[in-house]
Amino acid sequence: MFLPQEIIRKKRDNIALSNEEIRFFINGIAKDTVSEGQIAAFAMAVFFNDMTMDERVALTCAMRDSGMVLNWDHMNFGGPIVDKHSTGGVGDVTSLMLGPMVAACGGFVPMISGRGLGHTGGTLDKLESIPGYNISPSNDIFGKVTKEAGVAIIGQTGDLAPADKRVYATRDVTATVDNISLITASILSKKLAAGLESLVMDVKVGSGAFMPTYEKSEELAKSIVAVANGAGTSTSALLTDMNQVLASSAGNALEVREAVRFLTGEYRNPRLYEVTMALCAEMLVLSGLAKDTAEARHKLDTVLDNGKAAEHFGKMVAGLGGPLDFVENYEKYLATAGIIKPVFADASGFVGAMDTRALGMAVVGMGGGRRVASDTIDYAVGLDEMIRLGQVADSQTPLAMIHAQNEEQWQQAAEAVKAAITLTDSKPEATPEVYRQVGPQDV
Ligand code: URA
Repeated sequence: MFLPQEIIRKKRDNIALSNEEIRFFINGIAKDTVSEGQIAAFAMAVFFNDMTMDERVALTCAMRDSGMVLNWDHMNFGGPIVDKHSTGGVGDVTSLMLGPMVAACGGFVPMISGRGLGHTGGTLDKLESIPGYNISPSNDIFGKVTKEAGVAIIGQTGDLAPADKRVYATRDVTATVDNISLITASILSKKLAAGLESLVMDVKVGSGAFMPTYEKSEELAKSIVAVANGAGTSTSALLTDMNQVLASSAGNALEVREAVRFLTGEYRNPRLYEVTMALCAEMLVLSGLAKDTAEARHKLDTVLDNGKAAEHFGKMVAGLGGPLDFVENYEKYLATAGIIKPVFADASGFVGAMDTRALGMAVVGMGGGRRVASDTIDYAVGLDEMIRLGQVADSQTPLAMIHAQNEEQWQQAAEAVKAAITLTDSKPEATPEVYRQVGPQDV
């Protein structure tokens, strides 16, 4: 028999906790026998003294097991169950193409996604800009759509990793979010509760990333790879660039539109293509659907070019309540803003740097994201035709096309976009789309 305060004392005194102690504490959180004050003290003790990898694995597994853990055995999918998770970005619409692309190559992707957080967009908010799309189906429908379309992207249900919900709410108000052990367990407990066989983690680096430096992003990637593999789910990570808006657009309906155009081949932003392909290829190799990256990329290009990936996307949308002809007629269904006008820089020059976080906040400022959880979202607003690092901005080439609902909103967004983009006299060095891979061999 343990006592929560004795477990907190041990962590306070920098002594490693046992698996049993961690499980007792987390079970207490799920059963409400551990108080908010005790969660806060525990999180602060971890913040200062941190956790070993063994403790992180124990914390992740205990939080994963605090609610329902999905098991897909009865579904006989007939292929590997694989997923991707990202630490969040601006214009990061990869999930919407990646799921269908991997599905078209024989994988099964039961993806549980989140809403926008701070300056980052959320996959669920994007999908909700599709009329009728149900982000909270029953587990039966979730499984059925995953089987038939190979992919289903839905929202977190209350039953998955409920301990994380309480822990995160307390961390959020006690300055204990930014600890890598706690972040690792929080992300993975929710992901691993979805019954995955393998997982690829996209850890963003740069001015729009959740982690403040390259080194911290790398440390998080290594922690996630070590802990997920330790918890029995084959996992690797890619460090990808978030020093600029990833897609050409940022905003919910605009990004869905870009995803469909990507899948049908109407337009593929080159950076978005590179990051999406790299993540998909990693998923195919990790789950055994391709023997190496070259074979994986060949398969992925094939399903993009023969329309199979777009078909899987259409099946997912229809299976979850959206229009049957969404891929063909997306323009008819997606909301559009009242004012669509380009914003030009005050001078001309090379785009030398972007404050990607500020660009994300410009979209939030127009109502495209939430400042507080109860805010409603305007799906139509956002940025499109976003300029890229190294391009020349001048009186012919705008910084972006702003989609706003009124003139005042447009003006505010225009000021924010101009302030977020630094022009330089010389062309900046190109940043790679993918910095490195982190696999089990690296941790
Ligand atoms: N996202 C999560 O889900 N949890 C964290 O702790 C941080 C980011």
